Amino acid sequence: MTTPSIPLAGVIGWPASHSRSPALHGHWLRKYGLPGHYVPLEIAPENFEAAFRMLPALGFVGANVTIPYKETVMELADQVSDRATLIGAANTITFGRDGRIHADNTDGYGFIENLRQLAPDWRAEAGPAMVFGAGGAARAVLSSLLNAGVPEVRVSNRTRPRAEKLRADFGNRVQVVDWVQAGNAIEDATTVVNTTSLGMVGKPELRVPLDGLRPGTVVSDIVYTPLETQLLRVAAEQGCTCVDGLGMLLHQAVPGFERWFGQRPEVDEATRAAVLG
Ligand code: NAP
Repeated sequence: MTTPSIPLAGVIGWPASHSRSPALHGHWLRKYGLPGHYVPLEIAPENFEAAFRMLPALGFVGANVTIPYKETVMELADQVSDRATLIGAANTITFGRDGRIHADNTDGYGFIENLRQLAPDWRAEAGPAMVFGAGGAARAVLSSLLNAGVPEVRVSNRTRPRAEKLRADFGNRVQVVDWVQAGNAIEDATTVVNTTSLGMVGKPELRVPLDGLRPGTVVSDIVYTPLETQLLRVAAEQGCTCVDGLGMLLHQAVPGFERWFGQRPEVDEATRAAVLG
């Protein structure tokens, strides 16, 4: 397969119009003066496989994938990274020059890079982490925390069997905490992460009692609309180090951009501003 002179990439979803990824990649393409375009690709389910397989012929070197295709693309890929296999979903596709489709998941990488950037004193080994939620994003966050060396990750989810499944998949450094006990389990946690959709615009608030939060605990919310959720507001009042969810979105895009356009992009204040637009 020849390399296109104007490489294209995009975000595949149904819908895809809400995605901030075109603003993000567009910002980096302009910043580094690179040829290329990044576009939203709304593909209806009935056309998905045919349209997806046609992308390299149209000049696409890769794509991000969002709802509802994060699992489907794993079945179409020729090669799936270990972390995508572990998470059970892919968000970054690269169309290789050899014609092969590579699927990866960079959400966990994005989460941990954001944590390291906004809480530079964070130490994985410092103590247990408490994670609210057991959905797709929780799997990415959990795998990255365990990989970074967190000694114990407590998971609490409204639907307990989903948390039990995480323990079964990720091993005995994962402890399941009943949803009604979640407030107690944050007391000696050095890292607390919300991976539920609670606190997002249009969703109910996270109602877990937060009085156990201690000064110095690193508290992260992967919800980024609003940027400061109620969890982060309370955490700031209690002297915690707060990490909002926008940076995860920015950092998860770095490996894809580098693979497709040949330049490792920097995540800085201007990047945040471009996406907040
Ligand atoms: P998901 O797979 O649908 O999981 C949703 C999670 O939220 C589950 O744990 C679910 O619990 C919980 N939940 C939903 N409504 C609830 C309620 N009323 N009470 C208690 N728990 C509730 O979604 P996801 O893909 O993991 O995404 C979760 C959030 O992360 C979304 O807001 C998404 O926008 C955000 N996210 C952010 C980034 C980023 O880059 N910052 C990346 C990925 C996702 P049950 O299992 O009991 O339903």
